[in-house]
Amino acid sequence: MSDTVTKKLMLFFPKCECEKPIIYHLVKDYDLIVNVYRAKVTPEEEGYLVLDVTGTEDHINNGMDFLQTFNVTINTTGKGVTRDEQRCTHCGQCVSHCPTGALSIGDGATREVVYNEADCIECLACIRVCPFGACASAF
Ligand code: SF4
Ligand code: SF4
Repeated sequence: MSDTVTKKLMLFFPKCECEKPIIYHLVKDYDLIVNVYRAKVTPEEEGYLVLDVTGTEDHINNGMDFLQTFNVTINTTGKGVTRDEQRCTHCGQCVSHCPTGALSIGDGATREVVYNEADCIECLACIRVCPFGACASAF
């Protein structure tokens, strides 16, 4: 059996595609495990989904090919939440609010705060608590 991998995807939908049962098809037709972090899907406007998909590389690729047929724009960089390195003062305020450790003290000597975006689950807590506006959402 092929190894499974997990990929973080950001999907941007044109207005007319928001009501399609995309998650249902990814699970049923492409045998993927889907974990949705953030979603804004309404019939009136463009929408987005931030999700993890877990499955074999082939199944994930086939699922992404399926998504492309809906004019869905797929971003695989996983950067839904960004940190502005120029603004960040490494005050540490966000670290205790980050539920996954994506924001952590990287070096005990310098107390520099490190952002490991791969561990981010898009809870947006850091955006709320950062006193310097260093964290932001791509949408
Ligand atoms: S709260 Fe903001 S300024 Fe402070 S370490 Fe976190 S991202 Fe940097
Ligand atoms: S959005 Fe949540 S999980 Fe991601 S870095 Fe900020 S606090 Fe951590």
